[in-house]
Amino acid sequence: MAKNPKFTILLYHKIGKYPSNAKFPGLYVAEDDFDRQIKYLKNAGYSFLTLSDLKTLYDYYYNYNNKYKAGDSAAAAASDAAHGLINESGKYVSITFDDGSKSVYTGGFKIMRENGVKATVFMVSELVGGINEWDVKNGENSDEMLSLQDLKEMSEYGIEIGAHTLTHPRLTEIAPEDAYKEISLSKKSLEDLLGGSVNFFAYPYGDYDAATEKLAEKAGFYGACVTKTGIVKRGADFFALRRVAIRHNTDFFKFKRKIWKVGLFY
Ligand SMILES: [Zn+2]
Repeated sequence: MAKNPKFTILLYHKIGKYPSNAKFPGLYVAEDDFDRQIKYLKNAGYSFLTLSDLKTLYDYYYNYNNKYKAGDSAAAAASDAAHGLINESGKYVSITFDDGSKSVYTGGFKIMRENGVKATVFMVSELVGGINEWDVKNGENSDEMLSLQDLKEMSEYGIEIGAHTLTHPRLTEIAPEDAYKEISLSKKSLEDLLGGSVNFFAYPYGDYDAATEKLAEKAGFYGACVTKTGIVKRGADFFALRRVAIRHNTDFFKFKRKIWKVGLFY
């Protein structure tokens, strides 16, 4: 078993070519680029994990002796769950999509299915079946969001659905009680819609602080993603999980360099 494995979490938003009038083209990754990136990771020997799978493995590698006593049934269950996921090379990647753009279904899902890849989608829960209202307020084009049917179909395939607040506010700029509602009610409403537990959260705009981290923990999440660059390694703060952002202009050379660099220097 690999010692001290590193987990790389990639951050995407929309899958498709960016319209020429897009205000934030960095939110888009073209389908053929996405396909090529996934095939590269597969060929390089990476395993693709949902964030819940990542946590199962992380706990097995780094917290097993703290959390379990040898021989008890929880220890055996944790070990069994981890062994179904272990990659001897220690190369693990988690693909995440923030917001819940419809393009993740129309452009990305087919590519993930063809490649047998699992991922995690962070959904703005009040906008299921709606449009990107917060983005439009920031001057972006109107764009469809995932429908309940899309979420269900992806979730049945094995894509994990995480929460990304009710309405996509900057959590450190609103009252703490409102921030807590945005965090905890987005979890609850997605759980009600999908009939399963929603374990992970992503802070809109990557905007968080120590108080916001506590709110996400209090809401019952196992962890939360930020937009700062880095990987998940021993001693990681699970309520500030770092990622590697992939953008419209991340060409294949840059993509490979980003993955290599983050593994070396973070
Ligand atoms: Zn977002």
